[in-house]
Amino acid sequence: MDSENAASAERPPLGIDTSKAHPARRYNYWLGGKDNFAVDRESADVVASAFPTVHLAARENRRFMRRAVTYLAGETGIRQFLDIGTGLPSAGNVHEAAQEIAPEARIVYVDNDPIVLVHARALLTSSPEGATAYLDADLREPEKITGHPDLHRTLDLTRPVALMLVAIMHFIEDGDDPYGIVRHLLSRLPSGSHLVMTHATGDHLTPEEREVNDEANRRSGVPFRLRSRDEFARFFEGLDVLEPGITSVLEWRPDGPRGASPSIGDVSMLCAVARVP
Ligand code: SAH
Repeated sequence: MDSENAASAERPPLGIDTSKAHPARRYNYWLGGKDNFAVDRESADVVASAFPTVHLAARENRRFMRRAVTYLAGETGIRQFLDIGTGLPSAGNVHEAAQEIAPEARIVYVDNDPIVLVHARALLTSSPEGATAYLDADLREPEKITGHPDLHRTLDLTRPVALMLVAIMHFIEDGDDPYGIVRHLLSRLPSGSHLVMTHATGDHLTPEEREVNDEANRRSGVPFRLRSRDEFARFFEGLDVLEPGITSVLEWRPDGPRGASPSIGDVSMLCAVARVP
């Protein structure tokens, strides 16, 4: 479909802003989905002009998320998930991966994008034994998440919770206190809880490539902050990082042999899973 047809075929739901790019819709485009608008695709293409393998990064990030949930539900016995930055429904949402192993698993989804809210009903298809809920909230106001009655109705915060911050922290700029946000969320979770995080990095770039990427992100209309491995590691201070430690999403407990492609640099996405002591 050419872009003119694509644009005229689009009827945005009420309250959806199609004048500026949104991270959830742009990510959906990179994953090959249809829930995106011309402005998102333009922004996505600006990023891809500096980082042509960004769609592989999105795909591998999503694959990591599924492996991490499967591991937590299967190996650590976690039955509660708080997934902040849910994104648009796509193959392998958190509750599907968790309830495949533990039908009684309970999941709270959180996002601040009205289009994710529109899709939330489709997302909220829990197994009868478990439960799902959706909160319309902003990660930059974490006390509104931890104080939300629907969170407490769905999750028992005296029992371990997996806090999922998957491909969201790079949207939190330094001025919004990213480390303080994560500290606040973890402070409400008991021992035995886990933090699952992925984050885009510029560690594989030369200084010139880094500048091209930062400039593309500025032009894309979506604030985006690449962080180094050391900056990423700071989110895990005081936690017990599980094997294999801080790695590329490609290398975290892979479920099959990895070929030469994509490379770690193609994906440029760090991850770790850690336990709250
Ligand atoms: N976690 C999913 C989706 C990642 S896309 C996955 O990894 O597959 C990032 C999501 O974070 C988008 O849905 C976007 O709307 C959401 N997001 C970005 N900034 C946010 C904020 N400040 N508060 C809540 N959600 C946010």
